[in-house]
Amino acid sequence: MNRKYRKTIIAGNWKMNTLPSEVKSLFAAVKASCGRAAWCRMVLCVPYTHIQQAVKATRDCRISVGAQNLHQSPHGAYTGEVSAPMLKDLGVKYVIVGHSERRQYYGETDVSVREKTLAALEAGLRPIVCVGETLQQRDLGVTNELVTLQVATLLAALDSHSVRKVVFAYEPVWAIGTGRTATAEQAQEVCALIRALLRKSFGTVVARSVPILYGGSMNASNAKELLAMGDVDGGLIGGASLKPEEYAEIVRAANQ
Ligand code: PEP
Repeated sequence: MNRKYRKTIIAGNWKMNTLPSEVKSLFAAVKASCGRAAWCRMVLCVPYTHIQQAVKATRDCRISVGAQNLHQSPHGAYTGEVSAPMLKDLGVKYVIVGHSERRQYYGETDVSVREKTLAALEAGLRPIVCVGETLQQRDLGVTNELVTLQVATLLAALDSHSVRKVVFAYEPVWAIGTGRTATAEQAQEVCALIRALLRKSFGTVVARSVPILYGGSMNASNAKELLAMGDVDGGLIGGASLKPEEYAEIVRAANQ
């Protein structure tokens, strides 16, 4: 982390878990455990069905509500989809784009990720753009090439103003939901690569202002070490974010 230049973000991804009827009590527990935590931004990305209640539950606290996906068009004949202006209208602030589960199960590509990111920015949402390699790609030694392609495809469509609203998340696919975390050095190496790509396209001042998160089995025991790395500006947390006390411990680990 480098709080001189950018805010730390501790974002939870609830995925397709919990019920709308549990939102009120879950947020009450998160609020009670986390307190004000002025050193970081807390974001919880909930299912669409939870958004209205989550926004209501966070009116009196510093937690922002995020969504987990969006459609790239602002409106139209796309049955079952949800657009960026709809999310914005509900009070959503962040949206995850290109999570590896969306890439794997719903055919999302670097090009659709770019379209969705632009749609989010256009509506005034902050996209949390996920990139990262599979185990096979890591074993083949092509992690840097793959992440470079994922990031460069997006950067080509951004300018130095819009890129400042983007949050990147380096999420090695082999570490998501597996309990197998990247080492702090592996996370740092790829986060530093993403920052170098930002620097090459937009210069040092812009590059150092963009938050880059790590995601992949981050929990209360490994968060401190990961967050101590200079280019790891926070976490995108799946499983552990469903346990309010564990999420709060990660938030506390960011206070270093
Ligand atoms: C995620 O879903 O983005 C994630 C990192 O999950 P987990 O923390 O459970 O590995």
